[in-house]
Amino acid sequence: MKYALVTGGSRGIGRAVCLRLAALGYPVIINYKSNSGAAAETKQAVEEAGGHAELLQFDLSSQEQIEQAIESWQEAHKEDHIAVLVNNAGIRRDNLMVFMQNDDWNSVIDTSLNGFFYITRRLLKYMMTNRWGRIVNMTSLSGIKGLPGQTNYSAAKAALIGATKALAQEVAARNITVNAVAPGFIATDMTKDLPEDELRKMIPAGRFGQPDEVAAIVGFLVSDEASYITGEVISVNGGLYT
Ligand code: NAP
Repeated sequence: MKYALVTGGSRGIGRAVCLRLAALGYPVIINYKSNSGAAAETKQAVEEAGGHAELLQFDLSSQEQIEQAIESWQEAHKEDHIAVLVNNAGIRRDNLMVFMQNDDWNSVIDTSLNGFFYITRRLLKYMMTNRWGRIVNMTSLSGIKGLPGQTNYSAAKAALIGATKALAQEVAARNITVNAVAPGFIATDMTKDLPEDELRKMIPAGRFGQPDEVAAIVGFLVSDEASYITGEVISVNGGLYT
């Protein structure tokens, strides 16, 4: 069976992506770092909707944990493989650069960028052997435009865009597509401390987006209909930046 792995699938956009991919018929692997309660809720929601879901805890910033988790999953699923990878997990540690601590910089790069590298390299070999795969990388408006207070996050997300475009060209001949989705402001735990009333005045659509509105494009990008779309960055931002 072809599985879909969603990193950071326990909450927010990742949870909506899990539900969407399950609705498309994929058995879903829900990765999370520490919030086992939220991960279990996502699993339950997928199952209540008639889908199949499994939990796979690992910290994306640890290559060792990724290797162990994938190894043990593969051991338990000898006939199956992971054909769809949604690199969704991410964190914010905002500060002006002049005040930014090493840990703020390193933790954001480790999770969003190094994590992308470790897990994608690990799973690519299965996709290449099977001559089919879908990779969707969750970047951000911050990685396209740059946002003050987010040099770490903008750097990680811009690098993901470069990696998306380069990798897309490396693997296109094997029927593997690699695309990026760039949300603007989406209502999740990540944005709950932001002044929504102020910020929505800047958004042409006049509101924050919903996780489902991001998951919809992920669902399309992994479908067969999107087989000739690769190396693209698709914004989901209510017109905030075009
Ligand atoms: P969220 O609600 O804060 O959820 C973050 C998810 O990432 C959680 O599932 C969390 O797991 C997981 N995670 C964090 N660090 C991890 C690690 N080291 N290893 C494994 N999993 C880890 O975030 P969100 O708003 O849904 O954002 C999802 C993605 O969209 C992120 O890449 C974010 O940068 C991007 N994005 C979001 C927005 C927005 O406005 N919300 C805008 C642009 C881009 P736990 O539950 O275990 O903590």
